[in-house]
Amino acid sequence: MTPVSSPAALTTVMYHYVRPVAARAFPRLPALELADFLGQLDHLQAHYTLMTPQAFLQTLEAGDPLPPRACLLTFDDGYADHYRHVFPHLVDRGLAGFFFAPKSSLIDRHLLEVNQIQFTLASHPQPKALADEVDTLLRSDWAIDPAPLRAAHFAPNRFDGPEIAYVKRLLQHALPAHVRSQLAAQLFARHVSNDPLAFAEDLYLTPAQAREMLGAGMGFGGHGDRHLWHGLASPTDLAAEVAGSIAALAAIGVSPQDSCYCYPFGSQTEAVRQSVAAAGFRAAFTVVPELWRPGSDLLQIARLDTNDLPHRPTAQDPWLMRAMYGRALSGAGG
Ligand SMILES: [Zn+2]
Repeated sequence: MTPVSSPAALTTVMYHYVRPVAARAFPRLPALELADFLGQLDHLQAHYTLMTPQAFLQTLEAGDPLPPRACLLTFDDGYADHYRHVFPHLVDRGLAGFFFAPKSSLIDRHLLEVNQIQFTLASHPQPKALADEVDTLLRSDWAIDPAPLRAAHFAPNRFDGPEIAYVKRLLQHALPAHVRSQLAAQLFARHVSNDPLAFAEDLYLTPAQAREMLGAGMGFGGHGDRHLWHGLASPTDLAAEVAGSIAALAAIGVSPQDSCYCYPFGSQTEAVRQSVAAAGFRAAFTVVPELWRPGSDLLQIARLDTNDLPHRPTAQDPWLMRAMYGRALSGAGG
């Protein structure tokens, strides 16, 4: 029925923290204001066809074409925010999304390093002072000269200035694993809380909440065990990340075959994709800010960040034009 040249594209939106101003104990946390989330849903509902996870998986299974201007909602990291502030509104609107929760947080109730780093950054008013503090600790506690690290990693990225991006790179992957984890914990205790377990308990949604969300039609998918950069992980660590994803899903009654994967930080390689596919996952999401077109690799589904799209209903949405008219307007590589 649908011509082969159909311009159908999938717009996938990625969310992390979504919370109302009143719930913001950390004003500098890069959270999406709840009103802006709802405004974005108004926009998406007006202009796109929002697909439920079930409908998306059934479409893949059947090899059917995507609906026009197909759109998926995805929520990363398994935050209690998603249960408190997102889930009720999705249910009210008859919508559903994919939720990607690592095993360490969802099941083991450990505070992920990525979150230790985020809340340290959100609690520390001076990015420059924090970058300097990290350098000082590297010299004093680890006998590590930060100069080569500064040379390699002190540069802005799509979201952050050079100081913040530098601290994140060091603590996420550039330093040796044991230094990273101890340094992240040390900074978190200094600047945020000395009770990381209580902090984690409040930050992450629980398995019972996840089951309730599943029962209401939400989808859950794999997002690693300790939320490591998969593309930089050793084969042993990569295997543990994928196995942890399967264990977390099993604990809430989901099989990889009925699910998708989401690479933490979007980090993936051919070896990572092979591991994820061998584990039975049908599709996987990256953080490449693009649309995904049928026929492209299902293990590399691009996603837009919420801030790439409008937070109010408007026709001024360049991605919508691309979803409708396709390649002609394409600039970035896909
Ligand atoms: Zn994540």
